[in-house]
Amino acid sequence: MPESYDVIVIGGGPGGYVAAIRCAQLGLKTACVDERADARGRASLGGTCLNVGCIPSKALLDSSEQFERLNHRFAGHGIRVDNASMDIGKMLARKDKIVGKLTGGIALLFKANAVDSILGRAQLLENRMVEVSEPGGAVRRLSAAHIILAPGSQPLELPGIPFDHDTVVDSTDALGFAQVPARLGVVGAGVIGLELGSVWRRLGAEVVMVEALDDFLPAVDRHIAREAARQFKRQGLDIRLGATVQKVEKVEKRKKAGGAVRMAYRQKGRVHEVEFERVIIAVGRGPATDGLLSPSSGVALDARGFIEVDDRFRTAADNVWAVGDAVRGPMLAHKGSEEGVAVAERIAGGSGHVDFNTVPWVIYTAPEIAWVGRTEKQLAEQGVPVRAGTFPFAATGRALAMEEPVGMVKLIAHAHTDRLLGAHLIGPHVSELIAECVLALEYQASAEDLARTIHAHPTLSEAVHEAALAVDGRAIHKA
Ligand code: NAD
Repeated sequence: MPESYDVIVIGGGPGGYVAAIRCAQLGLKTACVDERADARGRASLGGTCLNVGCIPSKALLDSSEQFERLNHRFAGHGIRVDNASMDIGKMLARKDKIVGKLTGGIALLFKANAVDSILGRAQLLENRMVEVSEPGGAVRRLSAAHIILAPGSQPLELPGIPFDHDTVVDSTDALGFAQVPARLGVVGAGVIGLELGSVWRRLGAEVVMVEALDDFLPAVDRHIAREAARQFKRQGLDIRLGATVQKVEKVEKRKKAGGAVRMAYRQKGRVHEVEFERVIIAVGRGPATDGLLSPSSGVALDARGFIEVDDRFRTAADNVWAVGDAVRGPMLAHKGSEEGVAVAERIAGGSGHVDFNTVPWVIYTAPEIAWVGRTEKQLAEQGVPVRAGTFPFAATGRALAMEEPVGMVKLIAHAHTDRLLGAHLIGPHVSELIAECVLALEYQASAEDLARTIHAHPTLSEAVHEAALAVDGRAIHKA
């Protein structure tokens, strides 16, 4: 008889591990299967986010941003530093230490909650049976009353341009360059391209980003995207829009120092060739569903390999649920975690749900970009009458004192009801400021509610307050 559980979660990323902990909290006998191991062969829980995504990239973004400040912004405070240098090895070791701490932390949380952590590759068979292939070659069979699929996602390759993980690299490789590349190409000016491009530019690389679309950051409010483009250009990120990559090939004989790969791209009908030391391909991610399901599992995939779910996270197979990057919706850790909690609560007889209208987005560049709700363009397309209020950080005392008077807050409310419909921010620490806006949307607040809420002075949050006042044309510190 296979070992049996109330719930088996496949995948230990933010969708899966959170679901497993919540299931255990609700009294369900739970196991979580994940194949990722650390250098010592122990389970390295936390999925892409903790191991090769959100956390290590934020560690590098922080290190490189400190270096950038030291070189370019401390002078404004009167701090003089000559010949600052960066120890890349130490920077990478710090990142690895943070990852180790957090992945180890999840193992401890599993122990504390009595979640069985199983290391191996899982495949779902018929009747919620799971086959686990362990690293040593052993194969185990488990079964459960409920299965939660949370396999996550992986970087997409460009057709005809495979990763060699040396010169043509994915986002994981780009977290571990031992040296700063002199010239770095980035294909795709999306979230990953901008974050990793920023890291290596701050450390000294000349970065060229090639983006297929004519619009920069199309999902972002136009006001904010324009400001972002201006700031990134000023920093020296060379972003080429409307440019489609045609070929990326190794340069056999190096003619010029630094050129190991040659990229050909077409822009406005002309083909351009550029040489780089390395090229990061950051053109999106796809669901990691290869080999996850046996044909008898009963779970259906769509044409792109995403697991099909209904609005209650149910797949086509009875009591098999799916969450996170491998199902519809944005590929964001916090979206996956909320889905995981909702599914656990549904399995335990509750009615957990996720409001997809209030999922916050953050791009961790400098300045940071954050938003929640709809953009002005989306609202116009939907025929919703709106009033918008903006307020620049340059008009707040705190941003000036911090030497970071960059960016703005834009709030959009319904023209008749004043209900907040969108918040769009670019500037210092907006990844934190967005939380207030998410709460406001979640509580269906009006712009007036925010305008009548006391915000501490002097803080960056005053820009949110003033933008709320500006919706009604009565910002105090704006002429
Ligand atoms: P993305 O969709 O954000 O950006 C990919 C970009 O590549 C797009 O702008 C697209 O137009 C462009 N592109 C596609 N094919 C191209 C081609 N042939 N030539 C040139 N450009 C091309 O995807 P990503 O940056 O790879 O990130 C993947 C996922 O991971 C996203 O869903 C993202 O939300 C998520 N993620 C989120 C964060 C965060 O929340 N801060 C960080 C990293 C990743």
